[in-house]
Amino acid sequence: MSHRPHPRPYDNVLQTIGWTPLIRLNRVQDGARTPIYLKAESFNPGGSVKDRIGVALIETAEREGKLQPGGTIVEGTSGNTGIGLAVAAAVKGYRCVFTIPDKMSDEKVRLLRAFGAEVIVTPTVEPDHPEYYGTVARRIAEQTPNAFLADQFYNPVNPEAHYRTTGPEIWEQTGGRVTHFVASPGTGGTISGAARYLKEMNPDVRVIAGDPDGSVFAGYVRTGEIGEGTPYKVEGIGNDKLPGTLHFEWIDEFRTVDDRTAFHMARRITREEGMFVGGSTGLIVHVAAEVAREVDDPDACVVAILCDTGERYLSKVFNDEWLEANSLGDLVDREAASVDSRDG
Ligand code: PMP
Repeated sequence: MSHRPHPRPYDNVLQTIGWTPLIRLNRVQDGARTPIYLKAESFNPGGSVKDRIGVALIETAEREGKLQPGGTIVEGTSGNTGIGLAVAAAVKGYRCVFTIPDKMSDEKVRLLRAFGAEVIVTPTVEPDHPEYYGTVARRIAEQTPNAFLADQFYNPVNPEAHYRTTGPEIWEQTGGRVTHFVASPGTGGTISGAARYLKEMNPDVRVIAGDPDGSVFAGYVRTGEIGEGTPYKVEGIGNDKLPGTLHFEWIDEFRTVDDRTAFHMARRITREEGMFVGGSTGLIVHVAAEVAREVDDPDACVVAILCDTGERYLSKVFNDEWLEANSLGDLVDREAASVDSRDG
């Protein structure tokens, strides 16, 4: 090891959030001359980009008197924000209650419970349905004494956390050479906050969003109308409504990607780059590789977000039976074929 990333001890695990490594892709970009670097957020203690907002939401609420000692943190989450909140709540001694839609992986529900959170799994329904996970969380927060609703889809602390940390880290780690930034909005906190910082430093930085096929964001940008969302399997990104934390003014372009393409790339990154990642990262890297090929300039610099660890999807994206049951078995066959051809 030539470097010393942690020369001194920390007082608690929260101090290790952020300053995640920026790691170059060497194979999956398929011949693009433009370098692509991943901001590897799985290095955070809770294993995802959302640790950054977990601690920020809690500490802002403490400062503003919205969260008192002995209080309860309530949130609707696709899993990772809950884990980020639960990590901080464990250190600070708060109780957590989370709602999570039943489309999310078992691993995420188990992780939340492992950190001591109470978890309510809700049906995957439209946002106007009373059992919608965000609505249930709001109801629980109203009915629980001394409760704080983290409210990641509307709380400005979410994009602000990425404006203060993710953006500046990318700027400094690339020595200001970043030319393209690729991410995929769920709440939009990561892309909106980091993009705002990068464009303030250099207005020519181009910001590209990946959007799952079935989410309403890309269609909204194209037509100005919020269409009907359709189901998709990639977790944590896209939406069937527009969050208050997604600031379209900092995003130059949206590109739609389907589940199959996202999962195939997640599996390739794992096998060919040695980085274990989830489906949202696969989707983002697919877009980053497309951009890198189009730009085709060794002096450009594409930075993309590696959102979370693949361990969260062992029962799904990395489970051949699940892929086959979900009409994605061709991914397994395609990889078998490519290994055969490598063997000659
Ligand atoms: N990928 C995964 C796996 C996530 O859980 C999330 C957050 N829901 C994102 C990407 C998107 O992050 P953001 O909410 O900041 O847009």
